[in-house]
Amino acid sequence: MDVAIVGGGIGGLTLALCLHEAGIACRVYEAVPELKALGVGINIRPHAMQVLGRFGIPQEMLKVGNEPHESVFYSSSGQLIYKHPLSRTAGYDVPHISIHRGDLHAILVAKVRERLGPQALCLGHRLTGFTQDDTGVDLHFADSASGAVLPPVHASVLVGSDGINSAVRKQLYPEEGLPRFGGINMWRGVTRRAPFLDGKSICRVGALQTGKIVIYPIRNFSDGTQLINWVVEIVMDVNTQNDWATPGHLADFIERFAHWHFDWLDIPQMFEQAEMILEYPMVDRDPLPRWSFGRVTLLGDAAHPMYPRGGNGAAQSILDANVLPGFLREHADPVAALQAYDAARVPFTTRVVNAARNEPPDTIINRVEEITGGKPFARIEDVIDPQELAAIAQRYAKLTGYDIETVNRIQAEQVRGASRPA
Ligand SMILES: Cc1cc2nc3c(=O)[nH]c(=O)nc-3n(C[C@H](O)[C@H](O)[C@H](O)COP(=O)(O)OP(=O)(O)OC[C@H]3O[C@@H](n4cnc5c(N)ncnc54)[C@H](O)[C@@H]3O)c2cc1C
Repeated sequence: MDVAIVGGGIGGLTLALCLHEAGIACRVYEAVPELKALGVGINIRPHAMQVLGRFGIPQEMLKVGNEPHESVFYSSSGQLIYKHPLSRTAGYDVPHISIHRGDLHAILVAKVRERLGPQALCLGHRLTGFTQDDTGVDLHFADSASGAVLPPVHASVLVGSDGINSAVRKQLYPEEGLPRFGGINMWRGVTRRAPFLDGKSICRVGALQTGKIVIYPIRNFSDGTQLINWVVEIVMDVNTQNDWATPGHLADFIERFAHWHFDWLDIPQMFEQAEMILEYPMVDRDPLPRWSFGRVTLLGDAAHPMYPRGGNGAAQSILDANVLPGFLREHADPVAALQAYDAARVPFTTRVVNAARNEPPDTIINRVEEITGGKPFARIEDVIDPQELAAIAQRYAKLTGYDIETVNRIQAEQVRGASRPA
């Protein structure tokens, strides 16, 4: 049995580590010819961190990233609405880490090369198509730089972890078309500056109705400054194809936040001091009824791209990677293994995609904005019962699998060796 993994992003690289751990041969085929630190900030919550923990990755991430200790929600006038503890401060046995996607990617690449050997990651291989029969799958590649056709690769199983614009998914679902636009445009940026609040907070401010900003530190520097990641969301129509590298422009969004000078953070100033700004539409895809066709399946964003507003995109790709090797070991027939993988993951991730659309943690700020009409309040208790706000956060955590009881139970089993692939 050998597995060809198409796409060396967060999910594909984690799958390589999990397959290797389970004693299954694999190789990762990645389109980009050269690895660069792409993207901006990403959050890995404890349910995914405990998978990475088996490979010593949290220790590496903590050297460069930031472990937040609270999630804080502010109104568009900068008033505190609600906060709750995060990570080990909340009692989790494993940390939540906010990190630059490029830093996490580099750690995963190094770990794959260290454990599987340098030949395990083949760069410059852009998948152009595949064929399969009862004996395996033939993968066809083009050289990303020259476009030249590369020799085909034969494998027992193909896993498409090639992201939201997946070529594998396109071949399985040729009529599907482009990702679905959610009516919100985003600008993502990073600013190096002094810490805000106490340097360990993930902060949501504003609301869907006013424009929303998510702000959190992703790198700590020895001079005491931090790299602060921020994401602006504004309801508007855009007609751009989603591309993680599209540059963004301050002038397109700063006006909306021109008066957001709060005593805990001067938001326009943070925008003006940005080192880099990217623009990206909020897109996802409708959940699929199945990912697996014979010996071919999907994983991560290729399978279940979701709105990036609940810290679950990368996490769910890591959780897919965690379970797939167990099914491949359990079933001698790869087709049966992939069907079992579908049964385990398709219904669960469908709920996560729908939760990101309809009831993400942002519901807390949106609900308060709806009630107050954006007017300042004297006491939040006069606006809404804080228990109602806590219930929104807890429901989302439970639904997507990072509630403390679930994570700590799995962690205890993992420590005992019970949840490792057989
Ligand atoms: C360049 C980039 C920047 C990103 N920046 C952010 C960010 O700042 N914040 C955030 O929250 N999320 C970001 N994401 C998305 C985030 O990584 C994913 O939502 C999540 O981690 C799930 O990971 P994944 O492995 O399923 O997909 P991805 O991490 O998107 O990885 C998919 C991989 O497949 C490769 N690929 C695509 N097509 C082919 C093909 N035909 N043949 C071979 N390989 C192919 C891509 O080059 C990529 O390496 C970014 C993704 C990319 C690709």
